Amino acid sequence: MAGLLELTPARLQWREGVPAHGDYDDVYHSAHGALAQSRHVFLGGTGLPQAWAGRAHFAILETGFGLGGNFLATWSAWRSDARRAQRLDFVSLEKHPLRPEDWLRVWAEGEAELRPLALALGRSLPPLVPGIHTLELDEGRVRLFLVYHDAESIEELEGRFDAVYLDGFAPAKNPAMWSEALLAAVARRMKPGARLATWCAAGEVRRRLAAAGLSVRPAPGFAGKREMTVAWREGALAEEQRPARVVVIGSGMAGANAAHALARRGVPVTLFEREASPGQGASGNLAGVLRWLPSADDNRLSRWTRAGTLAAHAMLREWEAQGIDAPWGPSGVAHLARDEAQARKQRIALERLVPPPEVLSWLDAATLSERIGWPVDQGGWWFGIGGWIGPQRWCRRLLELAGSCLTLRCATAVGSLEPCAPGWRVRDAEGSVLEEVDAVVLAAGAEVPSFAQAASLPIRPARGQVSLAPAEAGSPPRVTVCRNGYVTPEVSGQRAFGATFAVGDTDPAVRPADHRENLVKLEAILPGYTAGLDPASLEGRVGFRPAVPDRLPVVGPVGDAPGLLVLSGFGARGLAFAVPAARLAAALLCGEPWPLERTTALAADPARFARR
Ligand SMILES: Cc1cc2nc3c(=O)[nH]c(=O)nc-3n(C[C@H](O)[C@H](O)[C@H](O)COP(=O)(O)OP(=O)(O)OC[C@H]3O[C@@H](n4cnc5c(N)ncnc54)[C@H](O)[C@@H]3O)c2cc1C
Repeated sequence: MAGLLELTPARLQWREGVPAHGDYDDVYHSAHGALAQSRHVFLGGTGLPQAWAGRAHFAILETGFGLGGNFLATWSAWRSDARRAQRLDFVSLEKHPLRPEDWLRVWAEGEAELRPLALALGRSLPPLVPGIHTLELDEGRVRLFLVYHDAESIEELEGRFDAVYLDGFAPAKNPAMWSEALLAAVARRMKPGARLATWCAAGEVRRRLAAAGLSVRPAPGFAGKREMTVAWREGALAEEQRPARVVVIGSGMAGANAAHALARRGVPVTLFEREASPGQGASGNLAGVLRWLPSADDNRLSRWTRAGTLAAHAMLREWEAQGIDAPWGPSGVAHLARDEAQARKQRIALERLVPPPEVLSWLDAATLSERIGWPVDQGGWWFGIGGWIGPQRWCRRLLELAGSCLTLRCATAVGSLEPCAPGWRVRDAEGSVLEEVDAVVLAAGAEVPSFAQAASLPIRPARGQVSLAPAEAGSPPRVTVCRNGYVTPEVSGQRAFGATFAVGDTDPAVRPADHRENLVKLEAILPGYTAGLDPASLEGRVGFRPAVPDRLPVVGPVGDAPGLLVLSGFGARGLAFAVPAARLAAALLCGEPWPLERTTALAADPARFARR
């Protein structure tokens, strides 16, 4: 049986100079050129570029990313079109992605006009793990959602599209891409007025499109092919309704990511933060661990934290590529097994999941000791994609990068919310009106239930104290290490370790007893390490995590209050939840494609608590 996370990469072959997929015995594009074919069949067939002229947002769905030629042709057309949509989302399904080295091989020889874009994209391709991988291009104005799943997983895609490219291998070679169920699922995701194009002229495919409620007609094919097919949903294309202005409450990693995501969608945002500067709550620490929490059955927490770790990693790597000072250390994370029994469990999970080794592998004690720079007594998981992030610096950088769409109002606590004509009236603690807006994102961390509309949510403050010890650059541990607690490498002359976790404890003071608890955790991670630490040299910081009983984030509308979204419940895993959670909140507000599979996203629905 294949591993739960095992993807079979494309088996690339060349047929008279044209790339082909060995398993499907079919070429990826016409011998007359990928770009010319994309322009004729897909852009031409869906009325592009005229169809996106003057639009705020345009969304395209593609079945079969293949070599990426259609995306690159579309991205290139968007870049050179003065009348283009302000924002382009391109969602593409692919069961057999190219290995990065094959991508580079293909595009080193591929269409010269697309090559620079292809090579730039090649640097950002995600690892070969199932999921929806969001690539933000051209400052986020173009987003490519690579959906690494079977065609049947289209039911997990949430979004409504203005254009569809059907580009699977021939129906005889890959029937799953043209099944009645798939074509009906595609058609359901088309907006009124949306157009679909495919090179395929098979009568059965046309009948299925018509049965799915589309109008269908033949069109002249590309390069000597007599016909192709175009189809459309009757009606006039219209923009999704999106809020004219949004208030975000709270500037921790939830609020900062939400403001960043919305601002990149071009939505004006006012962010209210009660403290004098951003990132002072639970997100105020020097450094925390970014890592996936795998489970042998890839449960919801596993899927959320994998998606979040990959997304945060991709974001910060992209910042680095752009020369932005990224507050992180992507040196990998070791999760040491507690004992032999846990080591066995870790290995079993790996055998069931079979993730790419660069994402997760299992290393013995000797290899881990070498990576860490300190002798450890057990092997454990090694997360090649992971490391530490400085949460406070991250929040601040996100807000800087949000640009002119963001108005940041610190030292302003929001006291209450009430419904009003556009959506919500936002008042301060004295009752004065701060703003009236269409929509509000409640990202006030553990304080979310202090708002009447969210009072029933089981979000509780979980006190955490982290300890900070002086550290020399390059001193061990050289990588982040976890084992019922964590310790980071040196960050700005200190290292962080801990942390305590106590629900219902409201004491904001740093306590020596909690330092002692953290030292015990540290000693269990790195035996012998604490002997060299002077407890008097320790500093610390206390924060209150927004914790919920099922340890999943809380993202979505509360009750039946339109335009009010909660973004919280990050508990002890904020770094691994924040990016997709905030992007999901932005997608819900703007009516744009979701960055997560439907089932995964809905696991965070605040309504889950009411159903229990
Ligand atoms: C000691 C400790 C160690 C941790 N280690 C890790 C780790 O290693 N890895 C990891 O992934 N996670 C870790 N976490 C968890 C992570 O820090 C949290 O999940 C995350 O910070 C929560 O972010 P948030 O934005 O929801 O909340 P917060 O960061 O608390 O932000 C909420 C913000 O809302 C503001 N606010 C509240 N009420 C109002 C109001 N009425 N008006 C205006 N503003 C308001 C607050 O001032 C605050 O700035 C740790 C947490 C702690 C405490």
